[in-house]
Amino acid sequence: MALSDGTFTADVHSILKEADSTEVSRLLHSAFLNDTTETSINAYLINTGTRVLLVDAGAGSNLGSGCGKLLQHLRDAGYNAADITDILITHIHIDHVSGLSDTSGRTFPNATLHIHQKDLTFWQQHATPRADDTWGIRLNRPGYQAVIPYLTAGRVHSFDSTTELFPGISAVAYNGHTPGHTIYTLRDGEEKMAFWGDLIHVAAVQFSNPAITVAYDSDKTLAVTRRQQAYSDAAQNGYLVAASHISFPGVGRVSRSDNRYTWYPVNYSIYGKN
Ligand SMILES: [Zn+2]
Repeated sequence: MALSDGTFTADVHSILKEADSTEVSRLLHSAFLNDTTETSINAYLINTGTRVLLVDAGAGSNLGSGCGKLLQHLRDAGYNAADITDILITHIHIDHVSGLSDTSGRTFPNATLHIHQKDLTFWQQHATPRADDTWGIRLNRPGYQAVIPYLTAGRVHSFDSTTELFPGISAVAYNGHTPGHTIYTLRDGEEKMAFWGDLIHVAAVQFSNPAITVAYDSDKTLAVTRRQQAYSDAAQNGYLVAASHISFPGVGRVSRSDNRYTWYPVNYSIYGKN
């Protein structure tokens, strides 16, 4: 189930600031988007019958009034925060983990977080503000602070390589955007869905040109390699993809023609058959 945390409004050029701005504008305008546009923040819920999992937890109160709506939408869908048993964290950035906690502590009292060890190690080394902090570290530190109550409560499970967390649910290291950026895969028989996290931020631009990086990538070269790997694999195998910042619900499939990729949003189905 896709759950919207809302949107945040940004000048796309400030996100893709190292790209050729003429190309970025051309691709945005050809997709009928303005240079300043709303970007979805999507989370996902997986109910296995015995566990209720979330993929990421939204921006909480850290990115303005357009987002932080995950909890409300979870309730609308018939779940309470206490129902969540596990939260699969794609990476520790402000728009993916801030919703984990509020001023009174853990929002999801019964949940265990699953996080790649390298993202934890990075933030354990940057937990305290320093004069030489990059703006990205300053921006995302409140995200790590929302993880800390779970560390204190012994509610964090870390992994350092590709691993099956539960039957059919695996964590696959796809570092580049952050040191421990992780995608998750869900398998049921022959069917597969991949939760991409931040392998892509601006669909209108980065499917046409996967080499365009975002300002928040910790290793831009690796981020491009990972994006191309993920696109190529999804196009070759035709499975469903769910991506945090593709327009809500952010679920669809990818096709390839030469080195250009096209995103096909999943067909709406009243029966849930796609
Ligand atoms: Zn993000």
